[in-house]
Amino acid sequence: MPHPKTERTLVVVKPDGIQRALIGEIMKRYERIGLKLVALKMFVPTEKMIEDHYLLDPQWKKNVGEKAIASYEKKGETPPSSDPTEVGNLVVERLKKYMTSGPVIAMVWEGAHAVELVRKITGGTEPRSASVGTIRGDFVLDSYQMADTADRAIRNLIHASGSTADAIKEIPHWFSEGEIVKYNVPHEATLYDVDIMKGILG
Ligand code: GDP
Ligand code: MG
Repeated sequence: MPHPKTERTLVVVKPDGIQRALIGEIMKRYERIGLKLVALKMFVPTEKMIEDHYLLDPQWKKNVGEKAIASYEKKGETPPSSDPTEVGNLVVERLKKYMTSGPVIAMVWEGAHAVELVRKITGGTEPRSASVGTIRGDFVLDSYQMADTADRAIRNLIHASGSTADAIKEIPHWFSEGEIVKYNVPHEATLYDVDIMKGILG
């Protein structure tokens, strides 16, 4: 079993995150809990890159469609289709426009429970209902209601891998192995080493 500190997750600061000048704020939040940045790049993604990214998990389209249909029904509105896959296709089209509208910053963060902790810090998909204290809850206000009415993707600043299985597929989609840097930082000893307390007082 590899040490839990080797877990990695993909984070993408979406175009609105860059436009809102939140790059430093976002990175600070992952960095300060002890995760380590091991890859980073800025570019404007292509539509194909985005479509392929969201289709890496064969279940995602159906799941996102079901989620969207439930959100229409909660508002007492009729969804654009009752077929989750069709609604999922609509979300993919909206995401292609959103995610290619400007530069994004893609990052890989490494550390124990990286996937789960990054999702916790990032917050729920809809900023309107995301918890206070999370990035999506503290720095933006978009809602399913506004996004669906305007036929666009929810603007929520960040993509973060949803599971370790997703992260394992997403990281090689965005980075070659050579772009991921292996290095140590001294605070890893305090976070992970069993014997660290022996060395502190000499
Ligand atoms: P995430 O993992 O929290 O980013 O959420 P998902 O993987 O379910 O969806 C991916 C992205 O699609 C979200 O971050 C939103 O930008 C967008 N999105 C998801 N569901 C909806 C929806 O029902 N309506 C709209 N307009 N956008 C959505
Ligand atoms: Mg997701």
